Amino acid sequence: MNDALPATPSFLAIALYAALTGGGMLAGVWLMRRYEVWAVRHGGELIAFAAGLLVAGALIHFVDRAVELSGAGAALAWTLVSFLALYVAEAHVVPHTHGRAPSEHGVFAEGRTLGPMVVGGLGLHSVVDGLSVGAGFSVDPLVGWVALVLVVAHKLPEGIASMSALYASGVSGRRAAATTTILALITPLAVIASFLFLKGVGPRTLGALLALTGGAFLYVGAADLLPEGQARGRLANTFFFLAGVAAMVAVKVLE
Ligand SMILES: [Zn+2]
Repeated sequence: MNDALPATPSFLAIALYAALTGGGMLAGVWLMRRYEVWAVRHGGELIAFAAGLLVAGALIHFVDRAVELSGAGAALAWTLVSFLALYVAEAHVVPHTHGRAPSEHGVFAEGRTLGPMVVGGLGLHSVVDGLSVGAGFSVDPLVGWVALVLVVAHKLPEGIASMSALYASGVSGRRAAATTTILALITPLAVIASFLFLKGVGPRTLGALLALTGGAFLYVGAADLLPEGQARGRLANTFFFLAGVAAMVAVKVLE
């Protein structure tokens, strides 16, 4: 399976992967501007599927490789640090909205947060997303591809979440779209920058970076996406979550 993949992707390939990570989030913006009702109604399935991909991918691909590269103690410590950092960055800053979930009054049940704080939390998150792809391809193509799939899969709900959070802070539709579009550009830039800067970095540093991004995926999957998918309460969402986990297990088994 590994033999079919190129050893190190060319700069052009990395630029293309980077564009994909930005495109996913822009698709979320577009859906919320054009088809908000549809996006909210069917967002649950995608969110549950992405949650399965992220939780399983973080544990069996990222943390697993990080342990190989920098030892179990360091790898698990960095995973925890990253999980906690994202909690602090997101839990008290970004409202928990990965879809525009209206209350009985037709407005957001939670979250009247300042726009700049939303943007700050999501901006940091976007850098980590990009770093995961750059670090992944610096380790080996398979980890790079897993990172790319994990990032693209949750970028669409992230675009919807960003729009929702900005709406909830009282930002107009047009300004929310412009702000989220700028946020969408951060990840592709971080993909390219991290890929260029990580050339020749030692295995222990790469292991720590993989653990950091693994902890971030674990947090986003388990704390952001999974409760959101469960909140819709449909049996189909459980199926989509397990399908996401199964996809990552399949990649591991076929590796
Ligand atoms: Zn993300």
